[in-house]
Amino acid sequence: MRAVQVTDEKALAEGEHPDPRPGPGEVEIEVAFCGICGSDLHMLPSPAIPPGTIMGHEFSGRIASVGEGVEDWSPGDRVSVIPGKPCGECPNCLADREHLCGEAVMRGHGLGGRPGAYAERIVVHSDCLFGLPDGVPDEHGALVEPLAVGVHAAELAGLGPEDPAVVLGAGPIGVMCALALRASGVKRVVVVEPGDHRRERIGGLGFTAVALEGVHDAVIAAFDGELPVAVLEGAGHPDALGLALELVAPAGIVVAAGVLEEPVPINQVLLIIKEARIQGAFAYRREDFERSIELLESGRIPAAELITEVAPLARAQEMFDELRRPGTEQLKVLLAP
Ligand SMILES: [Zn+2]
Ligand SMILES: [Zn+2]
Repeated sequence: MRAVQVTDEKALAEGEHPDPRPGPGEVEIEVAFCGICGSDLHMLPSPAIPPGTIMGHEFSGRIASVGEGVEDWSPGDRVSVIPGKPCGECPNCLADREHLCGEAVMRGHGLGGRPGAYAERIVVHSDCLFGLPDGVPDEHGALVEPLAVGVHAAELAGLGPEDPAVVLGAGPIGVMCALALRASGVKRVVVVEPGDHRRERIGGLGFTAVALEGVHDAVIAAFDGELPVAVLEGAGHPDALGLALELVAPAGIVVAAGVLEEPVPINQVLLIIKEARIQGAFAYRREDFERSIELLESGRIPAAELITEVAPLARAQEMFDELRRPGTEQLKVLLAP
């Protein structure tokens, strides 16, 4: 099969690979589409992604064959796949927090553990499968995973319909957070985004979008004098968590979903006098994944508008370069094997 592999120089190169064969409990999937995730861009240079890795964890496809003992799935079934594979035995797994299992990523697909879906075929355990309904085409099936990240972050914010909410950043994570908030019934969502093109696009999706300049006043004005009860940080920018604390209402919540490795300073006095909470949001629970599929099926997510390019595997490196370019107009790029 053809697949995109990480080279010794940490570039991406398409090449020939042996076809994977499903073992007991596993299925072989013919990959339809695989999204390029911000975490792929982040992780590629890290030692966790050694040369030879096949990345890709946001994918849809069709089951090509099933291994021994798989009874609930058949060739031809259209699926999306939860890429993490929790151990099932640790305290987090036993406490119904499988997404926080320390082994889920390394035992999962596309982030340095098992091979990912920048490939024509992939073998996954049948536990990881979620059926795609007819109303969710394969392209949109590749959005289930990134939308589930937004669903999870919105869930952690715990807002009611009348609570004002701010999302920082209109990149892939911020957009998914805003859409998930709205889909969960939150009526007033303001998105803060410095980039003109991204601000226009999120405005076009029906959200009030404000620039960074004068952001404090603009947010208060947008909520008719109220302060946001929740601020979802989806930018992963060093200044974003601090800004979130400035914007959030007393007793409000800041949900950190943007990925940033470097430590950032926060104003501890603000945190204290507001009695604000800072809540991390990592990945999603299985329920969030199911909810994400339901939302895509319901038509409440403008899926087609989120996909800005579909490219063949051979253009993977070019697409990574483009997504890393400041000011890129791309949002979600899918690779189609
Ligand atoms: Zn992802
Ligand atoms: Zn575990």
